[in-house]
Amino acid sequence: MRRKLLKSIKRVVIKIGSRVLTDANGGLDHEVIGRICDDIALLREQGKQVVVVSSGAIAAGRSELGLMEKPKTIPQKQAAAAIGQTRLMRAYEQALAPHALKAAQLLLTSEDLESRQRFLNARATIDTLLGFGIIPVINENDTVVVDEIMFGDNDNLSALVTNVAESDLLVILTDVEGLYSADPGKDPDARLIPLVESITRELERVAGNSASSVGTGGMATKVAAAKKAGKNGVPTILVAGKREGILSAAMRGEEVGTLFLPSGTGLNRRKHWIACTLKPAGRVIVDDGARNVLLKKGKSLLPSGVVGVEGRFERGACVRICDMEGREIARGLSDYSSGEISRLAGHKSSDIEALLGYRYADVVIHRDNLVVMS
Ligand code: GLU
Repeated sequence: MRRKLLKSIKRVVIKIGSRVLTDANGGLDHEVIGRICDDIALLREQGKQVVVVSSGAIAAGRSELGLMEKPKTIPQKQAAAAIGQTRLMRAYEQALAPHALKAAQLLLTSEDLESRQRFLNARATIDTLLGFGIIPVINENDTVVVDEIMFGDNDNLSALVTNVAESDLLVILTDVEGLYSADPGKDPDARLIPLVESITRELERVAGNSASSVGTGGMATKVAAAKKAGKNGVPTILVAGKREGILSAAMRGEEVGTLFLPSGTGLNRRKHWIACTLKPAGRVIVDDGARNVLLKKGKSLLPSGVVGVEGRFERGACVRICDMEGREIARGLSDYSSGEISRLAGHKSSDIEALLGYRYADVVIHRDNLVVMS
């Protein structure tokens, strides 16, 4: 099955974690970077386009700053990223040069990708670079981010990049062999799961129990990334990145690591952006009738089905649509602000103008801007 699936792959996002890129002393592991770039060159020869999402800037900068431990404060991390990022790019340049390949740097924040315009600009840049045969190397723009505008981790960033870069596969290179049935460090019966057909709650729970010390994400963020990529119709392969030739083996369809199948054919790119990239600014609570219409018929959300609104947001914001039990059932771009929605709740569309004195639309959230989440 893997071989068949991988044969058709044209564009792949390869996420490389800090633990893969660093050696025992915490500095950049040039040997591993060299090996990964050898594999990337092979993929290029096979006509596949490659986008890299690379961590390692903070780890590389730490030794340059002479810090004995992982930087703790945000300014220290940002300083380490600033000095480390140039070292990281140089390492890629040097490792790709013998293959006559070049690397280009893209630094993104989640705020960048939340803006549709910047998102499309990033997409056009990546597309153009790939057209020139260049390898885009993407990292979070650590020097300017604070918690609210952080991707959280590069696993999440890599899943979003599958949409930005319009790739058809995500490969996550990490420091373990793949996803295990339990934490292999604690449970001798833990076994590697070669194939995940669907990401269940139970699987997310198992993944939530293991962590990593150099990178920011543990297994949970990898599974979350696979889930997000899956919503885009993109499969994910999770493998041990330090192993020689592992990337080539994975791309040949060998049974290495864990393959996560996508949840379906995938949302269209814009709907994936709404569901996975935008951060919801509030909640619109709907009654059971509206819930059923949204879930079963794929219709727009009318004001008559709204029973409440939480949070303050402007027209155009991304909001969660929740049922009366508080479960999120959908997400979408609101045609009205939170204040307007609280005045419209429970009323007919034909009353909008009388209630507000103006009308943007007959619906609160149009079905073209709405994504079912459950
Ligand atoms: N952007 C961080 C770095 O380059 C890594 C974040 C992560 O690994 O999740 O060091």
